[in-house]
Amino acid sequence: MDLVQLSRNVPELIEIDRLAGDLPRGVRVRILDSVIHHGVELPIHCFEAGPEDPEAPVFLLTGGIHGLERIGTHVIIGYMKTLFSHMAWDDTQHELFKKARLIIVPLVNPAGMLLRTRSNGRGVDLMRNAPVEAAHDSWLPLVGGHRLGPFMMWYRGAGADEGALEKEAQALENLVREQLFPAKAALSLDVHSGFGTVDRIWFPYAKSRDPMPSLAEVYQFNTLLDRTYPNHIYKVEPQSLNYTTHGDLWDYFYDQQRASKERGGVYLPLALELGSWLWVKKNPRQLLSMLGAFNPVIRHRYQRILRRHLALLDFMSRAVAGHREWSRVTSKERNEINDKAQDRWFSGHGAAMSPIVAK
Ligand SMILES: [Zn+2]
Repeated sequence: MDLVQLSRNVPELIEIDRLAGDLPRGVRVRILDSVIHHGVELPIHCFEAGPEDPEAPVFLLTGGIHGLERIGTHVIIGYMKTLFSHMAWDDTQHELFKKARLIIVPLVNPAGMLLRTRSNGRGVDLMRNAPVEAAHDSWLPLVGGHRLGPFMMWYRGAGADEGALEKEAQALENLVREQLFPAKAALSLDVHSGFGTVDRIWFPYAKSRDPMPSLAEVYQFNTLLDRTYPNHIYKVEPQSLNYTTHGDLWDYFYDQQRASKERGGVYLPLALELGSWLWVKKNPRQLLSMLGAFNPVIRHRYQRILRRHLALLDFMSRAVAGHREWSRVTSKERNEINDKAQDRWFSGHGAAMSPIVAK
């Protein structure tokens, strides 16, 4: 495969490479790892801005873990263009990066995007690949992750039991361990599409319907988002309210961070699940293509989606810089906040059903 074919099949990678070649002051780039597909090396780029001190608060933004869900990578590339433009002329943007670090991996699974598959080049669903067993069964057992083989979606991979992660997942783990574990406060946002009619912000667990230990911090984070953007569009909820899965990478990173000696502070791994059913509802013909179920097809809708999440991504960077607003919960406050969070998210309203599962 030559560059012309590559640019036709995965133009996102060309676009990312172009951004990497024209960085504004204060942005660093490196290649986390590469996957080889048909003799072509496909790099996983990582962009960083802000202090290199590993304890500095940090926001990690990732996309393209599922190769079919191109729109997530497009949203991130669009955000990078706006951010990089700000950095070229706007000193206030640089002020923010004196306090907090931003890390962006716009395309975690380049082979999947090239092949137009959910899984990676070896047929493994990276979001089912971690050594995590769900405590509660998924109502759709195969969707929750299986070991039957790479011929079917949601395959967990041969090494999932022993913790031998796929290359892309391992690259992400190394990054999260090194950059997020020691941080005073850390947020990550992993962009997906394909579920529901509204845009959701999901927090752990995917493996269990029990609340995560940092429930109070999530509640505080949600309160800060509501207060800062009273008319925001996001539905914040635990993923398990919708479905449970085995092998979720973010569940794994979250538990590992909590158990780690290098742990700096609170870490909340969030996912942005773009509500693609609305695009399908307004343009049912797009269901005819597999990509159409996960990505907006009509131009004006596509542009609207690229604009729609800029404020959230900006908010996330600011929310790590000002993490005291949500990351500090005293033991006295914790019980009270946990009660409110239980009422909001765990009081027994039923799970949504889904024929297409995204994250
Ligand atoms: Zn996904």
